[in-house]
Amino acid sequence: MKAVLGRPRPGWLAVTVILLGLGLVSCRASGRQRASEAPAALRYHLTYVRVPEHALDVEVVLARGAPRDFLFSQPGAVKTVSAHREDGGVRTLTVEDGRVSLPRGTRVLRYRYALDAFIRERGPDFFQGSGEGDARHVAGRVYLIRPLVVTPGMRVELSLSGAEALLPWHPDAHGIYHLRGEDLVDSGFHGFGGRRCQVRLPDAVLDVAILGHFTHLSDAAVCTWLGKAAEEVRTVRRGFPHPRITVRVIPVPGHPGPSVFGMVRWSSPPSISISVGQEAWPEDFERDWVAVHEMLHLAHPVFLPRVPWLSEGLATYYTEVARARSGRQDALQAWTELVGGFARGREGNETRTMEEAVSQDGFSLAVYWTGALFALHVDVELRRLTGNTRGLDDVLEWLARRGSSSTLGAFGAAVDAIAGQPLFNALLERHLRRPAFAEQAGLLEALGVQDGPNGVSLIPGRDSLLRDSVVGRRSHGETP
Ligand SMILES: [Zn+2]
Repeated sequence: MKAVLGRPRPGWLAVTVILLGLGLVSCRASGRQRASEAPAALRYHLTYVRVPEHALDVEVVLARGAPRDFLFSQPGAVKTVSAHREDGGVRTLTVEDGRVSLPRGTRVLRYRYALDAFIRERGPDFFQGSGEGDARHVAGRVYLIRPLVVTPGMRVELSLSGAEALLPWHPDAHGIYHLRGEDLVDSGFHGFGGRRCQVRLPDAVLDVAILGHFTHLSDAAVCTWLGKAAEEVRTVRRGFPHPRITVRVIPVPGHPGPSVFGMVRWSSPPSISISVGQEAWPEDFERDWVAVHEMLHLAHPVFLPRVPWLSEGLATYYTEVARARSGRQDALQAWTELVGGFARGREGNETRTMEEAVSQDGFSLAVYWTGALFALHVDVELRRLTGNTRGLDDVLEWLARRGSSSTLGAFGAAVDAIAGQPLFNALLERHLRRPAFAEQAGLLEALGVQDGPNGVSLIPGRDSLLRDSVVGRRSHGETP
């Protein structure tokens, strides 16, 4: 079993990596149609400033009737803005609690985000700023002001100068981004400067910004790593969940190992950023789980309101499953990772119910691993009830057809629809109301996953066929 499951997937070889020199203009058509009619309510222009140090100058030109109340989604970084009238009058306005109201007659709003000063003051940070040499990474929510109220259909144009940038969206042939007002609510991660590479999958493109230099990694190696992770998402979903996404990779000096930290922001489309040890070697990526974990978040809908145990549980469960399906780890390794994760999640939570454990902290190990155990349980129950013809993958597919966001209730309804009978609520109650991980022993015993003094072994069990289907090698679109 090990030999068969351990073979690398031939499909990986089909990932094309294209390196783009800075300054090369992509010849692909704009992903977003220009909505001709009305002029944009707001026209943003960003300037990447280098001297005396890196900063971002933001100018917003307001059309007549444009909103006058603005805010920074993450307040604190910009203290004042200037409001310019048509007659030349200028007023400096203080930003309070992230908000500012422009006087009547304001035509242009300007301010500077002191990027390097912030990094110096607070240390490098995924949101407020990081990067190396001439390249910088920052979250839009920190520096990009947005209207307090975004009306449906509000049009926004954005252009930039001073550096090549990788924003979540795709510009038109003239470099102008045609956005909706909603795009500014979570404007994702932004990369300025650096180098670019591109991954082409059969059904998707990953545009990648490399924001600094690596000692042992070529840009091609970075894109090959991200391409393999994206391929692994295609062992869970029938296709890659978005036609184009952007990924920013930030070197971290003095940090051993491959990925240090990763995050996905729910811009539209989502944007991913990952920090990587500057001294990492290409072979370090073999055991990396961060890139595939972040990309697996694209496989489920955004849950509103947020349900961290569910979104992290799905991504954590599938991180092990997808790496086995692709052949990057064998079945035994995948089950060993899952059992080890459950043990780490259980530490300190022996007497708490799952409900208590997940309410303590938004992103604790208990959140990730109680969620992953529940995801496994749902997958196994779905397979048992459908004669191993359907599973959790089908739930994600079902939800994807219904839009990019969902709720816990809709997730439960999708599980029941795939099961062909009520399943979700009773199963969730069993997990939530009992001590966290109380369901683990019975579930693993039925699957024939035994945790002994010499590690995990796979033995015959009532559901061992289902166990082998969960992590069985497959290529995109193939049902187990
Ligand atoms: Zn996650």
